[in-house]
Amino acid sequence: MLYNTDAIVIRTVRYGETHAILTLLTPEGRVSAMAKSALKPQSRLAAGARLCAQGTYFIYQGSGLGNIQQVEVTASRRRLHEDLESAAYAAYFCDLVFAAAPERPVGDPAMYRQFSALLDALAARPEDSALLARVFETKICYWLGVSPDWRFCIRCHTPLVKGYRYHMGEGGFVCSACATTSDSNLSYAVPSSTAKILYLFERTSIEKLGRLDISAATSRALTQTLYYQLTDFGGLYLKSRDVLNQLLDVFDRKDGESG
Ligand SMILES: [Zn+2]
Repeated sequence: MLYNTDAIVIRTVRYGETHAILTLLTPEGRVSAMAKSALKPQSRLAAGARLCAQGTYFIYQGSGLGNIQQVEVTASRRRLHEDLESAAYAAYFCDLVFAAAPERPVGDPAMYRQFSALLDALAARPEDSALLARVFETKICYWLGVSPDWRFCIRCHTPLVKGYRYHMGEGGFVCSACATTSDSNLSYAVPSSTAKILYLFERTSIEKLGRLDISAATSRALTQTLYYQLTDFGGLYLKSRDVLNQLLDVFDRKDGESG
């Protein structure tokens, strides 16, 4: 059976000397397929076999792994490969969406649209990379089903106003009335806007995200909170995240602070 689908390359694995096994994110979920000879520079599949390339993929599906017959590339996103920091962010985003996307055909078209918009934003506004990372991490937590309702205390469910803490053992915010002294080793205070911003990140589509003025302290709280949520609750310990962090260290950037 031959079919075609819109897709974005989210993983490439070399197979033999010249072949590549691609994992594609499609509106219906993720699917892996072989791109024969794609690693030969003159291959007509070469442009469509690079990470973050997007287009229409024509796939022959037999009983096993499908074979990519043809690609009509609509966005090669070359810019994401030319800059080291953007490439590190892009690789991290691909790993995140790989972890969250179900296999075809039960995927979420919104995930595909958001991921496409994310890569476009990363290429167009590299100065917003850290912000885009926090927004996408928030959405990944939601898709993985490991987000509490960020607006409320996870114990008494009252709306959070200020003086609340992130609880590393329970994966959410506890209000000042609920936090006991025994929780203090397992929790940390966050700025009062943190919960509202996470709720906003979860709900706002990336295309509509405007400029946001987030303080350095809130940025740090967002970075730290999302990190615990993705690792301890989402189970995502990603090498690409470590690589990104090392790179940001080299450039003396604190992850979570933009610019
Ligand atoms: Zn409470």
